Amino acid sequence: MMVEIPDSHPRKHSLMSRQRIVDGLAKGILADSAMIAHGRGEAFDYLLGEKTTDSARLAIEEAARRLKRAKKPVISVNGNTVVLAGKELIRVAAVLSCPIEVNLYYRTPERVNGLLSILSSDKKDVARELKPEGFDREWVAAVESVELLGENPDAQIEGLEGPRSLCTSNGIGECDTILVPLEDGDRCEALVMSGKEVIVVDLNPLSRSSIGATVTIVDEISRAADILLKEILSDGENSGKWDNNEVIRRALSTIADSMNTI
Ligand code: ATP
Ligand code: MG
Repeated sequence: MMVEIPDSHPRKHSLMSRQRIVDGLAKGILADSAMIAHGRGEAFDYLLGEKTTDSARLAIEEAARRLKRAKKPVISVNGNTVVLAGKELIRVAAVLSCPIEVNLYYRTPERVNGLLSILSSDKKDVARELKPEGFDREWVAAVESVELLGENPDAQIEGLEGPRSLCTSNGIGECDTILVPLEDGDRCEALVMSGKEVIVVDLNPLSRSSIGATVTIVDEISRAADILLKEILSDGENSGKWDNNEVIRRALSTIADSMNTI
């Protein structure tokens, strides 16, 4: 049950996100490890100042460019991502005309179906919203056409074994570019090895996912998704060469600088 948090509370957003994870766990749609992953994210977010840094913004701009030019983009979501940023990512998928695939490390049919039904109801809410600024097609049709995948995996991510290797051929299987927030390092590595462009959103700049990705957005997923939507809808310029290690170094340097605030 959602506890009432007064608007005046300085950390309202963070407390509400935490409550969403607690509720998701109580409903059985998240695995126990969801709390561990969330707690780790909160700790890094504190050190990053709980805001989108300049270097994260550069990574979001690069991600927008790559997703726009992709032939077959896909957004892969796990449980935490759905409860924290389901609606935000449906808007992104509607604008990109790409599917969203539920892809779980601890896959059970109940969790996959529970998360797909949250996304279906998020889709209905998002379809009722005003279309985002800069979007010139019909909004309701764009939102309704976002395919939600993951219920019937019919392919495997190369180089992985067991249930965590399963995916959908029309989604992760055949995509050329994948936006994959909060991904496990091993799976991220397998996706990169299979030749895909892998865009990770992860608050831990030193996670294996962050280090192995093609583009790493070191930011909180719901904040990053809102900015990503705006970037996709704007005419960004070409960046030329992308140095992913540079954004990781800059995130670490922001964390180191946080010590100078005391
Ligand atoms: P790896 O295998 O990549 O080294 P890991 O074992 O840390 O990483 P997970 O346990 O799946 O992998 O961790 C999830 C990651 O997501 C953590 O690095 C955490 O910092 C990050 N994270 C958690 N919540 C959020 C959030 N809301 N937004 C962005 N990142 C988050
Ligand atoms: Mg990780």
